[in-house]
Amino acid sequence: MPTVNDSKLGRPIHVAVCMKMTPDATDLTIDPVKKTLDRSKVKNIINPPDENAFELALHLKDRVGAQVTVVTMGPPFFDVMLRETVARGADRGVLITDRAFAGADTYPTSLTLAAGIKRISREFGDVDLILFGEETTDASTGQVGPGVAGHLDTDQATYIHSLEYDPKTGECKALRSIGGGHEVLKLPLPACVTCELGINTPRLASLNGKLRGIDTELVVWNLGDLTDIQEPTWVGLKGSPTIVGKVDISSGDERDCKTLGGAKDAVDELFERKVVVGGA
Ligand SMILES: Cc1cc2nc3c(=O)[nH]c(=O)nc-3n(C[C@H](O)[C@H](O)[C@H](O)COP(=O)(O)OP(=O)(O)OC[C@H]3O[C@@H](n4cnc5c(N)ncnc54)[C@H](O)[C@@H]3O)c2cc1C
Repeated sequence: MPTVNDSKLGRPIHVAVCMKMTPDATDLTIDPVKKTLDRSKVKNIINPPDENAFELALHLKDRVGAQVTVVTMGPPFFDVMLRETVARGADRGVLITDRAFAGADTYPTSLTLAAGIKRISREFGDVDLILFGEETTDASTGQVGPGVAGHLDTDQATYIHSLEYDPKTGECKALRSIGGGHEVLKLPLPACVTCELGINTPRLASLNGKLRGIDTELVVWNLGDLTDIQEPTWVGLKGSPTIVGKVDISSGDERDCKTLGGAKDAVDELFERKVVVGGA
């Protein structure tokens, strides 16, 4: 594997990949009292686009010898995912876990991950590129990547479908689809980038890799280890400005669905319905 120093950094690029496990989307239940996902009853998998973000990082490792750190904020059982990423080629896995982080919405999730990345930079060398999936299959906001970019004050590109990095210039070029074409984004480092689902084919771990994943010592940090978080009220449920007021479960077959006829009739009926709604 070639190791290519970045001309500006004088060392190979350090890529952090933020990944999480999500409930298998075919198997979701919601606790009717707490109004949160009931995570105890579902099978968890690696959030699918995070697999693509990770594969992109491994591609940079293959091409220019990037250092790859995977980081997750979540419960202790997320260690399975970190071991799998080490098995596939990550240099290390970092698990940020503490009861204080439970119930976090996207703001404290981003803040906690940003604090974790600052600590990774201090312990293992400055992080230059931070990769994310486009969104999760559970809360699906797509806010965490841009949130981390905000907390770390880096440039960002979202929903990219390819990324190239040139060690000679120290710049990344990212492409993202827009209606009828694509945008070309030039990013100086450090930068945060969120990756679309399916941009590459995630590799499988080799047998030797699997053994390395089992044997690896994960880095495990709790709230006290993240010194950039000065108050416990900044994280978890207490640090979450959004409140889930009510969760309704739709069976999908209660919709009042009516197929309208030709264009003129359809327009007339829609106008008519608006009058009824407006007058109600
Ligand atoms: C209003 C609201 C209330 C919520 N309340 C609860 C609750 O009470 N209990 C609860 O368990 N969950 C709750 N959630 C879900 C939880 O906040 C989110 O799962 C979490 O904040 C991440 O947001 P997201 O899933 O939308 O991530 P997105 O922004 O869609 O994720 C984008 C990418 O960011 C990265 N990423 C996201 N989360 C992590 C992570 N933890 N570690 C590493 N990388 C990550 C991944 O690369 C992911 O692909 C709530 C969400 C909302 C919107």
